[in-house]
Amino acid sequence: MSERAVFVDRDNTLIEDPGFINHPAQVKLLPGTVEALRRLRACGYRIIIVSNQSGVARGLLDEEQLARVHNRLRKLLEAQGVVGEAIHYCPYLDGEEAVVEKYRRDSELRKPQPGMLLEAARRRDIDLPRSWMIGDRVSDIEAGAAARCRTVLVSPDRSRYNGRIQPDHMASSLLEAARIVEEHQETSGKPRRDSAEEPDRKLLTEIRDAVQRQQRRDNQDDFSLVRLIGSLMQMLAIVVALWGVVGIFGGQHVAAIPRLGLAIFLQILAFTIYIVRRKP
Ligand SMILES: [Mg+2]
Repeated sequence: MSERAVFVDRDNTLIEDPGFINHPAQVKLLPGTVEALRRLRACGYRIIIVSNQSGVARGLLDEEQLARVHNRLRKLLEAQGVVGEAIHYCPYLDGEEAVVEKYRRDSELRKPQPGMLLEAARRRDIDLPRSWMIGDRVSDIEAGAAARCRTVLVSPDRSRYNGRIQPDHMASSLLEAARIVEEHQETSGKPRRDSAEEPDRKLLTEIRDAVQRQQRRDNQDDFSLVRLIGSLMQMLAIVVALWGVVGIFGGQHVAAIPRLGLAIFLQILAFTIYIVRRKP
């Protein structure tokens, strides 16, 4: 018989999130985490941690450091009797922020895509409509819903939530989320989508993917053109500055001053182009 699971986001749901954790000493469980996981295990759920780790693609940590961080997390939980949790992560990121070529790509594993949940379900024979996704972000809720799990948003304030898909439940902490799962576990799972709705969903996904691909192409074009103009300005500034310096050494002080002024102007222009380019 298929198992049930609770998929849990890592950062700011299970542990504190100081931003791109890359050392085991930074792993700190949030209050109530152990109690929440114990309750979920007692209900018979497998606990599967699913985490976007774009820091790997951004060059802020490597997979060995990440493994040490996750070992620390496992040890902290095991020390309090919570054992056997699986950890899935996505190291990929698309776009120029991904400075590590190997990890620069769009991935079905990266939430809000449901890839990590689907992969875990396939490996462990998990019944997704009878399972749950708990997390603190829109991407967690969207990934859970796309995998047909029930969802709980962990957030102190529902009004801050601006996702396209609403969570099934809302909790102020992981512990409260665990209580909600306990309370609703015996109700039937999420209904499967009917056949009329499925094509619409597929079409919407295709449209969204096409728009994202076009946006990426536009960004790349923009990047190439602006970078070229900025580089030309920079080179021109250097040439004019050298022209000014040659004038000074040649005793043409009066002629050199406007040349140096022009060089400074071109340099400022080049900086401005780079700064404008970096704005989102
Ligand atoms: Mg999170």
